[in-house]
Amino acid sequence: MECGVDTLNTKQIICTHCETQLPFTHFSQMKQSPVEKIFWGRVSIEKAFSILYFTKESIVQKIIFELKYKQNKKAAYLLGRLMAKDLISFQNNSPIDYMIPIPISKRKLRSRGFNQSKLLCEAMVRNGYNVPIMDGLVKLKGSLSQTKKDRLHRAENSKPIFQLNPIINLANKHLLIVDDVLTTGATLEMACHCLWKAKPASIQIITAAYTIA
Ligand SMILES: [Zn+2]
Repeated sequence: MECGVDTLNTKQIICTHCETQLPFTHFSQMKQSPVEKIFWGRVSIEKAFSILYFTKESIVQKIIFELKYKQNKKAAYLLGRLMAKDLISFQNNSPIDYMIPIPISKRKLRSRGFNQSKLLCEAMVRNGYNVPIMDGLVKLKGSLSQTKKDRLHRAENSKPIFQLNPIINLANKHLLIVDDVLTTGATLEMACHCLWKAKPASIQIITAAYTIA
């Protein structure tokens, strides 16, 4: 992704100049971000924000693609650094006990070999956001067979189902869910419903990118 303006060091996927040109949302500085409004009436969230706008054919799409399908450590490092920076700058008053990466299904994990949301969490830690990663959320696939489903049921079943490892105690803990891209919020909503059963004190959400509907 070299543009020729600047030279890249070993950790950079884009140059310093291109980084300043990224489409930042500045949601972290807002009292109520557009991302929070997505969850109104669906699930209780203390705070939710995304760092970058995700648009097709953009540099953000390329960086996310590198993270999601190529396990590109430089892509994770850049996004994790931007996420860590905003969290450290704007969340000093609400400390987080655990970061929780949104899991991918076991089948996907086997074929892909890594979970991109966990890569983001690890990159956030490497960039100074010193919060433990709690990797106990499990993504299950929908149970109904295709033939039985009408259109409505299919829509319902397209929402992923999550399960929490019963050994993990999240009671009264402040949680931060981490994901790569937010689109409809369906995945994050279902993850929140699952986590609320464990009676945490609060749930916040951060995603690297946000797709404008
Ligand atoms: Zn550049």
